[in-house]
Amino acid sequence: MHGRLPHALLIHGRPGIGKLHLAQVLAQSLLCENRTQEGLACGACPACTWFASGNHPDFRLVQPESLLPAQEDAEVAEPVEEGKKKASRQIKIDQIRGLGDFLNVGSHRNGHRVVLIHPAESMNPGSANALLKSLEEPSPGVVFLLVSHQPSRLLATVRSRCHALALTLPPRELSLRWLQEQGSKATPATLAFAGDAPLEAAALPEEEAETRRRLFDLLSQPTSSALGLADFCQRLQPGAVVNWMLKWTYDLIALASRGRSRYNIDRENKLSLLVQNMPIVKLLRFYSTLSSLQAISEHPLNARLFFDDLFIAYKEIG
Ligand SMILES: [Zn+2]
Repeated sequence: MHGRLPHALLIHGRPGIGKLHLAQVLAQSLLCENRTQEGLACGACPACTWFASGNHPDFRLVQPESLLPAQEDAEVAEPVEEGKKKASRQIKIDQIRGLGDFLNVGSHRNGHRVVLIHPAESMNPGSANALLKSLEEPSPGVVFLLVSHQPSRLLATVRSRCHALALTLPPRELSLRWLQEQGSKATPATLAFAGDAPLEAAALPEEEAETRRRLFDLLSQPTSSALGLADFCQRLQPGAVVNWMLKWTYDLIALASRGRSRYNIDRENKLSLLVQNMPIVKLLRFYSTLSSLQAISEHPLNARLFFDDLFIAYKEIG
């Protein structure tokens, strides 16, 4: 299998389904010096030991500063550390140029050299163009693994130089079994709320689930006021709340159009009652308001006003 591996692979699919993990497994198996018959890494040779400790001389992981250490879902729920200069969310051109020696000097171990870029869409145009040169004139033995949540945001010329591999969601039963094996307490409802993405479900902090449950209890009461809801949220991260509200509203829209709820499968009855008084046109308008709020939710000028506006708009639906 490795003999025929393309020199650039684009592994894409939604966040939280294990793309980065797959890329790392692939990288390790390319570098392993004692592969199993199935072509998997042995886990014991010097190459595997270096890889596991992040020191393999023929491996480079390129990702935005904001993602260190590697986290598949950091873009979904990234904690904002106050008072600290925010790490860049972009892969900068210097990071790609910095690969120069690595690409031009041969392998340290007479094998492959692997560059893992994650997520590839965080390359800015300069970085993407710098990478394009390497993709167009590949050095022998070098394999690029690009991981992307949103391949449509990549330069078309970069995309066309890669062999695309789409990763889809695993079946729900399989994900639940895997979560149990990992010792996760995720329930079918948690998995559904994570959009059926098992890594995302595993990463949902339990205290966050409790806060969300209380917010959704409030939302389920027709008598709750916009200001009461904003009060409840004022210490929460605006980005997280917008994300929850998008899923909540998505389900309301699904039920209003006689579908099923997708994210809040344990609240379908409550949502069905609420939606009786919510015209679908207004729901759609609110959904688009949420999408635009999402853009500023990282840095709202005033969190309290942000939540007031959000819930006043919500209460205007019905
Ligand atoms: Zn090995």
